[in-house]
Amino acid sequence: MMKTKNIFNDIISGKIPADIVYQDDLLTAFRDIKPKAPIHILIVPNELIPTCNEVTENNEKLLGHIFTVAAKIARQEGIDKKGYRLIMNCNDHAGQEIYHIHMHLLGGCPLGPMLDLTNKKA
Ligand code: 5GP
Repeated sequence: MMKTKNIFNDIISGKIPADIVYQDDLLTAFRDIKPKAPIHILIVPNELIPTCNEVTENNEKLLGHIFTVAAKIARQEGIDKKGYRLIMNCNDHAGQEIYHIHMHLLGGCPLGPMLDLTNKKA
């Protein structure tokens, strides 16, 4: 399932440049090209999983690791004490743009309330 181009494969393999802040056997993390906060980093599994719906028990080690790496990068960026937000978008209603799962790490300023869409229709 590939709804749009998947540029993240090319960033992970080094074919396309990105500001990579962390990489290991399982994950690659790089700065978002259109940051929505002073710090906006994407943490991406090296293996393609298109959406959170395709996650299986086999991915549990990987997805535990993504949180360990998020905390490590937050410390590296100096935003761990003040705080930050971790987001994963799934499919259209969440506005997923790249169909290769990724965790957004956002911080560097007060991020405001999370969401209030209680008055929106389903
Ligand atoms: P999504 O909406 O899928 O959760 O988030 C995709 C994110 O990828 C967006 O915040 C977007 O700015 C970022 N993005 C899209 N293309 C590129 C790119 O070529 N390089 C980088 N570094 N980020 C990208």
